[in-house]
Amino acid sequence: MPCENPVSIHCGNCGGKNIKADAYAEWSEETQKWELATVFDDRFCDDCGHQVQAYEYPIIEQTAEQVAEEERAAAAEAMQDENRAYFQGGV
Ligand SMILES: [Zn+2]
Repeated sequence: MPCENPVSIHCGNCGGKNIKADAYAEWSEETQKWELATVFDDRFCDDCGHQVQAYEYPIIEQTAEQVAEEERAAAAEAMQDENRAYFQGGV
């Protein structure tokens, strides 16, 4: 099923996309796999390391320049987070 209005999910704290949702999985005897049953509203950011507010943004075509800029910003943000964790004595 093609998605007509694709969105990306962003962390409200750092803007990153390493967002996980709380969910239940159900065992399927048919496929022999855990299948997604229910997705809850809680969102967890892997980059921030805690629960966050997350937002959906429509995905629009980006130029190579915009993508590169986004990657630079993400790298700088990751570095800041590492420094913050270091100074707080955490990991
Ligand atoms: Zn985050």
